[in-house]
Amino acid sequence: MDLALDAAQRAFRDEVRAFLDQSLSPELRRGAALTSGVFADPDIARQWQAILETQGWLVYHWPVAAGGPGWTPIQRWIFEKECAEAGAPILPGMGLKLVGPVLYSFGNDAQKAHYLPRLRSGEHIWAQGFSEPGSGSDLASLRTRAVREGDHYIVSGHKIWTTQAQFANRLFALVRTDPDVKPQQGISFLLIDMAAPGVTVKPILSASGDHELNEVFLDEVRVPVSDRIGEEGQGWSIAKFLLENERGGSCFAPQLLADLKRLRSAYGPLRGELADRGTRLQLEAEALEMTELRTLIEIEAGAAPGFRSLITKLIASEIRQGIEALSVDVFGLAGLQLPEQRPFYGADVPSPVGSAEAQAAAARYLNARAWSIFGGTSEIQLTIIAKAALGL
Ligand SMILES: Cc1cc2nc3c(=O)[nH]c(=O)nc-3n(C[C@H](O)[C@H](O)[C@H](O)COP(=O)(O)OP(=O)(O)OC[C@H]3O[C@@H](n4cnc5c(N)ncnc54)[C@H](O)[C@@H]3O)c2cc1C
Repeated sequence: MDLALDAAQRAFRDEVRAFLDQSLSPELRRGAALTSGVFADPDIARQWQAILETQGWLVYHWPVAAGGPGWTPIQRWIFEKECAEAGAPILPGMGLKLVGPVLYSFGNDAQKAHYLPRLRSGEHIWAQGFSEPGSGSDLASLRTRAVREGDHYIVSGHKIWTTQAQFANRLFALVRTDPDVKPQQGISFLLIDMAAPGVTVKPILSASGDHELNEVFLDEVRVPVSDRIGEEGQGWSIAKFLLENERGGSCFAPQLLADLKRLRSAYGPLRGELADRGTRLQLEAEALEMTELRTLIEIEAGAAPGFRSLITKLIASEIRQGIEALSVDVFGLAGLQLPEQRPFYGADVPSPVGSAEAQAAAARYLNARAWSIFGGTSEIQLTIIAKAALGL
């Protein structure tokens, strides 16, 4: 495996680097570095999304036919690596990474023409309505009902853990359209206007005090049949396609390595036991990066992503939690502060004990616990690996 970039790849990297140098304002970099949740808040996410869209690089992972720039897998990796190193905001993935690929893969022409441009422009902000109380790992047991009435579905149910639903104006949801067949066969995939009568969003505050999560109540919400993606009953196969993108659609190592580097530069050289932990995490992240690159090189050579793509989210979750735990310990007592106010950047931030990075450390640590839960828990990932990769 040759890991050296060739001349064309180096030229591409330099182009990306120059663009990031020029486009990432100090405010955007600072906002990204001090974000305590998984995704950037709308204030910085909107700005960064618009800059990338103007440059033509927002949907860099979409195929050309859907509006992507036609980059190779290695070019996409270079872009993600450079964005991580430059400290770019992490855009919410619900629209760009999850429903976007569903729309261009399963949507009809009218749906693509209506939804894809609005997703890219930021007019539509998406949330993911899959999980319900009692239906998380066992997603196929979901109970939200959609009853056909003419050219509408009447949808009633209760979604939970809906990330950034408080900012969203569109929800993509799995609903039960047929209760009388096998659970997986009775599910359909609907696009729901969050402004429709009967939609209520209630906040869930995380242990960190962040408001990232919500409950979404659907009470006889009228959804046009034309906003169903695919056939009635096809929702489960669409959901499986989407979850594969959620678990393995991006490389995780670049961001992990960049965050370790930033921790070192915020604190200075680590010593003793902290240095050992830092080195171990560094090596694990580098090993993950090699694994991700091997997969990309295989994909670039025309092979299907092999079993290695199954393990990356699992490993990345452990490294992410290790980095945030190290961060709290590195900052000592200052790493334990947990002010109520958010965000940790901007004019109204309470003055920190120690540095701004120390002020965000405890919240980031608590929020990182969710890495081994969202997008499929680590236990579920292990079961998938046991079955699909090891044949157990
Ligand atoms: C921060 C965060 C953001 C999220 N965002 C969204 C979102 O935007 N939209 C959305 O739809 N959902 C979202 N989720 C929900 C997430 O997908 C679920 O939490 C996850 O699938 C687990 O489901 P659950 O919470 O119902 O836990 P359960 O499924 O009840 O699991 C509880 C425990 O039992 C274990 N377990 C369950 N079944 C098995 C099994 N068969 N074998 C072994 N162990 C098992 C699990 O691993 C876990 O440890 C989010 C969750 C978090 C934490």
